[in-house]
Amino acid sequence: MPEGDTIYRAARTLHAALAGRVVTRFETVFSQLARFDHEAPVAGRTIERVISEGKHLIIDFSGDLHLRTHMRMNGSWHIYKPGERWRMRHSDMRLVIGTDAWVAVAFNVPVAEFHDADSLARQDDLVHIGPDFLAEEFDFDEAMRRIRARPDEEIADVLLNQRVVAGVGNEYKNEVLFVARVHPFARVADLTDEQLTRILRTARKLMLANVAKRSSARITTFSLDPSQQQYVYARSGKPCRRCGTPIRYAKQGENARGTYWCEKCQA
Ligand SMILES: [Zn+2]
Repeated sequence: MPEGDTIYRAARTLHAALAGRVVTRFETVFSQLARFDHEAPVAGRTIERVISEGKHLIIDFSGDLHLRTHMRMNGSWHIYKPGERWRMRHSDMRLVIGTDAWVAVAFNVPVAEFHDADSLARQDDLVHIGPDFLAEEFDFDEAMRRIRARPDEEIADVLLNQRVVAGVGNEYKNEVLFVARVHPFARVADLTDEQLTRILRTARKLMLANVAKRSSARITTFSLDPSQQQYVYARSGKPCRRCGTPIRYAKQGENARGTYWCEKCQA
């Protein structure tokens, strides 16, 4: 089975051979790719870059077209001179990308998809998803590393980013930060390791507790009174359960997610 490093080397070889060259020939046995090629031909596009991402090999073409292939067990990419005899059977061929100087052939690749930058980024998120709070063993060190890698971002946004940590939705984001007593608009760079650790431990604790209990309603206060189930979430203007200060509300981040907090408890 090809490991990440094998695919990395394949991508490097393909990049050296193909980058900057114009596609003169494209063939595939995948009907979806063939249909796309019929509508918006790959031939005539320039190959901009070939990279590996984990087990995936991605070929970027001009015109915001990206071909993503997964090697799985038996997939491989070969590079040949035009007219050179292939070292594998024709029946194993899945994709051919020809240029004037080189021909790249994918054999037995089970997964191949075309993407634009947006859909590729969404796929990318799946590949790079951060440590999962609900995993049997939560990787605190990796979560810390990923959070610290975003010093200029606001902590509430960082918690929602599934590439950093997986599993926190908007409600937990607000409740976790209240319980950890951290201001949602604080920049990661301005938070101590102790504060970040408290946030991570709180998130794990609240989320595990809610998975463990039977009812589907989320409870972060651990109160059994249904009207007392959240500290701040969806409580704009209502008194803080700790100090009585009215809960504040603002939209936050690129996606304008609702943020609720107590200015006094989360100073
Ligand atoms: Zn308060």
